[in-house]
Amino acid sequence: MQGGVISPLLANIALHGMEALLMEYAKTIKMREPNGKSASSRFKVSSLTFIRYADDFVVLHRDLNVIQRCRELLSEWLNDMGLEIKPSKTRIAHTLHPELSEDGQAGLDFLGYHTQQFPAGKYRSAKHPSYQQPLGFKTLITPSKDASKNHQLKIKKVIKKHKNSDQALLILELNPIIRGWVNYYSFSDASTTGELTRQDNLTYQKLRAWGRYKCKGNLNKAHKKYWKRIGKRNWVFATREGNANALRLLSHAELGSSSTEYVKVKGEDSPYNGQLVYWSTRLGRSPALPTRKAILLRSQRGICSWCCLRFRERDILEEDHILARALGGKDEYKNLQLLHGHCHDEKTALDLKYIREKELDQYFDDFSKKLNKYDWYWKDDILYIRSNKRRDVH
Ligand SMILES: [Zn+2]
Repeated sequence: MQGGVISPLLANIALHGMEALLMEYAKTIKMREPNGKSASSRFKVSSLTFIRYADDFVVLHRDLNVIQRCRELLSEWLNDMGLEIKPSKTRIAHTLHPELSEDGQAGLDFLGYHTQQFPAGKYRSAKHPSYQQPLGFKTLITPSKDASKNHQLKIKKVIKKHKNSDQALLILELNPIIRGWVNYYSFSDASTTGELTRQDNLTYQKLRAWGRYKCKGNLNKAHKKYWKRIGKRNWVFATREGNANALRLLSHAELGSSSTEYVKVKGEDSPYNGQLVYWSTRLGRSPALPTRKAILLRSQRGICSWCCLRFRERDILEEDHILARALGGKDEYKNLQLLHGHCHDEKTALDLKYIREKELDQYFDDFSKKLNKYDWYWKDDILYIRSNKRRDVH
């Protein structure tokens, strides 16, 4: 969807109106309940699902005609507000049957997730939530193709940036990216569909090129130097200094399957369900969020400025001064950003590094000013001061 010359506030009002509009329309849908009776208003309204996150949204219904009518209604509604639905950014798709999708592809992409249903036998099939009979398909939610590709692009960029760095620096910058991504998809099927292993393989290929470059084309040497066996894992990209404290690259697959660090959400809970949806469609207006955070959340469109991934309801949200107070940053909105708790920790570590460097700079500055008052020389790494310059003049 594309906004023209319109204030973000108005756009937000327009987006909020959409849900009410669709729910009014839903009451007029002609449909029957599974038992053959003509459907009640409540049944009709519950048959239509509208999910919005910032200015991205999805409308779900089993009847294609209803979906097409929704598109018309939303388009008219937004036109009245001076906004339009960009045809290139909307698509009508069936989650199971590709032939019923506008572009012949089953499934839908939303918020970096791809949701698609696949035909499945009696035992692997999902069951009807109320009637418990098999539905003949199962649902898989995975990172969308674009999201997977973007993640690898990000990794590629970091590896390129560290072409001439130490392995440790490279690992330090890659780890939070990997952790954040796996965390975001922790309640999807990324692990079971092999997507996480695929991400590890793609990452390995890039690191291999990095290692080969560092060892002047000698891949064998690179493998010996930069990879090692740790525990049960054979090929761990890790530093060699000291076995116990080797700094190692996190593995997507390992993070995704560790039950202690990430609690998987059970069965029917999808990222589109329940609390997340409630929270996110009311983005920035949650009573649980202090106003300052709410404003930042809205201006960042629900995305953490550090890892560029969306905040989810269970995430810890922390305010951060973009330029640290100790470095002269002010306590005002344009110097504030909202970060995940774990991202904030990393940012703070970096801030402290700068603060220390700055203090050191300041120290040398003061020191050299003082020193300039004297006639001094170095000998064998020892500083000798002859006498006070001023006195020499006399
Ligand atoms: Zn973050």
